[in-house]
Amino acid sequence: MTNKTQPTISDAEWEIMRVVWTNHTVTSKDITEIIKEKMNWKQATIKTLIGRLVEKGMLKTEAIGNKYLYSPSVTEEESLKSKTSDFFEHLCNRKVGATLAELLSEATLSHSDVQLLEEIIQRKKMEAVDVVSCNCTPGQCDCQHYHH
Ligand SMILES: [Zn+2]
Repeated sequence: MTNKTQPTISDAEWEIMRVVWTNHTVTSKDITEIIKEKMNWKQATIKTLIGRLVEKGMLKTEAIGNKYLYSPSVTEEESLKSKTSDFFEHLCNRKVGATLAELLSEATLSHSDVQLLEEIIQRKKMEAVDVVSCNCTPGQCDCQHYHH
């Protein structure tokens, strides 16, 4: 489903990206001011995280005088999509449905969210299969046990 492979970014780096996605162009000082209280990070920590994000190609840098301006080189939507599909790639295909059900029952949703999900469920009803095929390596999930 994903056509682009994006670098894996840590939870800490994700916090920085959220600031950049929201504010578009920021200095490391701006980032520090926005998240220092939430994360309780020092300026040095934030600079290290920014440096890693630049190396990973997630942030673009532009030098203005003696300051660096950072902007995102990928959108939040793209990154979220890659993060979630990355997560589901580490699951047995047969556990995806139950995992989604659990995520869904825990989520707080608006009427329009529910509407959207209902439309998807209607479509999924048409496409549903009897048994989802497992594509795991034997020994990494329990599916094989049921097929002796
Ligand atoms: Zn499996």
